[in-house]
Amino acid sequence: MQELKKPSKKPLIFYYVVIVLVIMVLNMTLFPVMWETPVQEVDYTTFMSMTYDNDIGLVQIEGNEITFTDKAQEKVYQTTAISSDLGLVDRVYEHGGQLSSIDTNSQPNLLLSILLGWVLPFLPFLVIGYFLNKRMKNAVGGGDGMMFGMSGNSGAKMYVPSSTGIRFSDVAGEDEAKELLSEIVDFLHDPEKYRQIGATLPKGALLVGPPGTGKTLLAKAVAGEANVPFFSIAGSEFVEMFVGRGAAKVRDLFKQANEKAPCIIFIDEIDTIGKKRDGQFAGNDEREQTLNQLLTEMDGFDGSKGVVVLAATNRPDSLDPALLRPGRFDRRIPVELPDLQGRIDILKVHAKKIRLAENVDFTPIAKMAAGASGAELANIVNEAALRAVRSGRQYATQEDLQESVEVVIAGYQKKSRVLSDEEKKIVAYHETGHALVAALQTHSAPVQKITIIPRTSGALGYTLQVDDGDHFLMSKEELLNKIATYTGGRAAEELVFHSITTGASNDIEQATKLARAMISQYGMSDEFGFVAFETVTNQYLGGDVSLSCSPETQALMDKKVTELVEEQHQKALKILQDNEGKLHELAEYLYQHETITGQEFMDILERKSLPEQGK
Ligand code: ADP
Ligand code: MG
Ligand code: ZN
Repeated sequence: MQELKKPSKKPLIFYYVVIVLVIMVLNMTLFPVMWETPVQEVDYTTFMSMTYDNDIGLVQIEGNEITFTDKAQEKVYQTTAISSDLGLVDRVYEHGGQLSSIDTNSQPNLLLSILLGWVLPFLPFLVIGYFLNKRMKNAVGGGDGMMFGMSGNSGAKMYVPSSTGIRFSDVAGEDEAKELLSEIVDFLHDPEKYRQIGATLPKGALLVGPPGTGKTLLAKAVAGEANVPFFSIAGSEFVEMFVGRGAAKVRDLFKQANEKAPCIIFIDEIDTIGKKRDGQFAGNDEREQTLNQLLTEMDGFDGSKGVVVLAATNRPDSLDPALLRPGRFDRRIPVELPDLQGRIDILKVHAKKIRLAENVDFTPIAKMAAGASGAELANIVNEAALRAVRSGRQYATQEDLQESVEVVIAGYQKKSRVLSDEEKKIVAYHETGHALVAALQTHSAPVQKITIIPRTSGALGYTLQVDDGDHFLMSKEELLNKIATYTGGRAAEELVFHSITTGASNDIEQATKLARAMISQYGMSDEFGFVAFETVTNQYLGGDVSLSCSPETQALMDKKVTELVEEQHQKALKILQDNEGKLHELAEYLYQHETITGQEFMDILERKSLPEQGK
């Protein structure tokens, strides 16, 4: 678009010249005719009688043409002279006529005529030209302004501090992130304090973390806390069809921000424009230009002026390294999944919005929802409120919250799906198998709840395990026990029904994944040792892995994975065989009641109902 700018400017001047010429010609030819005082042809008798009536003003005699006016000199007449009328001049004189020349082009008001002749014709062109020019600038300067030119050309929304209303207090947990961000807010409010020591403001801060952890929310809170202008734009808004348009938008955004400094720019989902430039494909010129522009702009602005760029992404590893170097996004703010206390706090923040029973305890809910993000926790609270309405209550209870955790994790109860008796029995044994294996291995987390009510997610039943605290390190034993627990469902089926079903496919997938990770990522196998064959590429989005090893190693690894899982499968079988009485007892209970809580489960497990079973 930039190339278009010049040629479009030249013609504009050219048009002006043409217009001036046209008006000049018009002024010389057409307009004089228009303004000519209308001349009335009359016969000679009229001239004579007007003379005798003393109703005669100026008289001009030119050859045999007489032009004359009335006394008031308002109307102009013309007549043809009679050559024999010799006393004409004397007679006119006697009756008060003045012999002088008459200007038929007489223009009564010079100013008006200039106005009419020169300024007025220009006016429409000036107006059109003005708008044309403005639009042209918008089109070149960046996009949206062309038609909907209200929010500025870059399309960035500008927040006035009070308009979002979200404060840091609305963001629960994420204390480190809040601390780092409030420092930036503080700097913008009182830069002098920092300048005295010689500290400079970080130019940019990058919020990274899994989806739904509150990155966008944090940025909005910054807008709410800082009493400075806040520009918010999504990375995707820079993505344009035409090469150069996105770059123009970036340029425009920074120009606006520079005028409003001190201020904050927030670019959400920056990975859409900040992807690594790979050079393999000549393909995406537009994206690269946009990124280059962003890099240039971030270098270009003066940090001391007080423009801070915030950005959010859940794919930091796909970002271009140039974007991450100090001087651009030199501060990286991790926004991780909340820990137990964080989950409790988030639940509390969102619970303020709904009506709750007084005795609600958030701790067990937060424990159940291990691994849930802030967005999911917000969803859980809302589901609880919806459930309360559905059952006609005025407020949500503990059960509502508990049930909604399961809804968010496993989907709604599927009331319409009726399991056959045989199926129900198999599912009961399968789930009990998982729980029993988990409970009998010392390192495994206790079971919170087992149900065999089908869910909309497709699960026919599930075992809800609860970690007592937050785990950041897992020992090899814990991982092995976890694999054993995954195989426990299938093991119970084998043991009791001597046949196997399709119900274990998800278990198998999970167990295999874990076993493979132990070997290829965690260095937990004897054969390979301290070598990583796989690297995780998408840490925050499910964690894709890319394999890098020889085909021989790969084949060996597959064999090892199979062995490892099988070993744990045998272990699970052994545990269940040793406790077959309990397995029957628990499965029977589950079959009858469809749901069993962790407490009930442990009670049954620990009571010595069947004498031959120890443990
Ligand atoms: P993302 O990290 O993907 O940008 P958002 O900021 O859009 O996630 O969060 C989505 C929603 O989840 C928020 O609107 C809010 O309701 C809820 N949420 C997420 N994290 C938190 C938190 N730490 N405290 C309170 N609410 C949160
Ligand atoms: Mg977001
Ligand atoms: Zn299972």
